[in-house]
Amino acid sequence: MKTVPCARPGCADQIFIPDHPGPGRPRKWCSDACRRRAFEERRAAEAGAIAVRVVMVEPALDDHVAAVLSSPAACRRVLRQIGDWSAAGKLLDAKWSSVADELARLRRPEAPRPPDRLR
Ligand SMILES: [Zn+2]
Repeated sequence: MKTVPCARPGCADQIFIPDHPGPGRPRKWCSDACRRRAFEERRAAEAGAIAVRVVMVEPALDDHVAAVLSSPAACRRVLRQIGDWSAAGKLLDAKWSSVADELARLRRPEAPRPPDRLR
């Protein structure tokens, strides 16, 4: 038995071809759904449409942080917002206690920084 790639562009699936195939046309598609989709895509392309699939990808938290840290304006806005939240008492909420701790540390620069495992 060997495998060949599915004939639909963009499909990464493989088709298993038996060593002694039976009568009829050899398989081109990995599934009936793929065959139908290939037909629809071919028809859309012939009609002049451009097939586009939009995939929404949420950036990772590290990407958000890196974006903020690369911009003085973004850093200023974050710091200002945290200051406003602190003044309004929002940081008293347990959810924000680590932020309140970090803010207190920043206000007392002589205080030692907590070990990384506690942050
Ligand atoms: Zn396929």
